[in-house]
Amino acid sequence: MSAELIDGKQIAADVRERVAAAVSVFEAKTAETPGLAVVLVGEDPASQVYVRNKGLATVKAGMRSIEKRLPANASEEEVVSLVRALNADNAVDGILVQLPLPSHIDANRVINEIDPSKDVDGLTEASAGRLLLGKQGLVPCTPQGSVILAKTVRKDLGGLNAVVIGRSILVGKPLSLLLLAENCTVTMAHSRTSNLADVCRQADILCAAVGCPKMIKGDWVKPGAIVIDVGINRIEEDGKSRLVGDVDFDAAVERAGAITPVPGGVGPMTIACLLRNTVIAAARRRGLADPEL
Ligand code: NDP
Repeated sequence: MSAELIDGKQIAADVRERVAAAVSVFEAKTAETPGLAVVLVGEDPASQVYVRNKGLATVKAGMRSIEKRLPANASEEEVVSLVRALNADNAVDGILVQLPLPSHIDANRVINEIDPSKDVDGLTEASAGRLLLGKQGLVPCTPQGSVILAKTVRKDLGGLNAVVIGRSILVGKPLSLLLLAENCTVTMAHSRTSNLADVCRQADILCAAVGCPKMIKGDWVKPGAIVIDVGINRIEEDGKSRLVGDVDFDAAVERAGAITPVPGGVGPMTIACLLRNTVIAAARRRGLADPEL
């Protein structure tokens, strides 16, 4: 058996299209355009590429992109002041602080300065708390994208056994909570989990967010399972550099019912969900109903 490939590129393009349509509806109602502000401190080359891509995607979805740059030697107070100014700016609906920040800056403090109603990355303590409590809030993008992908295979995930490997604040924990909200029975696995292979074999939905290339072997996958591979790892193979996930794709594809490739799976969903959160934030901040997405 060869699994259905979950085409993250196409699904992300569909999400972006729906966001663009929601932006048009928002503009018609309010005569305003949603704005996403991205804060970049320093000149990290990878971060510059991410920020540029986010800006381009924002404009493509019909929203305003606001790029705020500070030098690498900016003080923590300067970064905090910038976030506070963006909080106070009514034309800004979403604020994203590009991580990592330079080491002399307390990233936790900066993130938690973001007004939760503009926290489109879903990383403030307030957003995390709302997710835990099952209250309406803005949800981290990569976990949200992972659940959207799983739901393209099966609309109702209720009652399925989900195993999430990895318990980071950025991916594993919020992903577990989102799957719980979908009425899955969730197991959170991590580096201290005993018999990980056996735990994985129980999973109807197996999500890997570890950062360890091809760690999840084919025979850890329950036949017919939905496999969501969040991992992005660069490896050298046959003298070439390439990206692989945390799942041994070539073996897992023979057992899974559906599987995300790397690249082209979860990766493209992250920016799409950032745009999605921005138009949702814009609507909620004006007391409008959530857009149809
Ligand atoms: P972290 O390093 O913060 O967390 C890794 C988690 O994996 C930890 O909870 C750790 O457990 C667990 N872990 C490590 N080794 C093992 C092991 N041998 N067995 C079981 N669990 C293990 O990573 P992130 O959550 O930030 O990212 C995970 C992966 O997802 C990375 O490859 C990253 O590049 C990718 N990623 C992809 C994104 C995308 O857009 N597609 C976005 C964000 C991340 P413990 O807590 O016990 O240490």
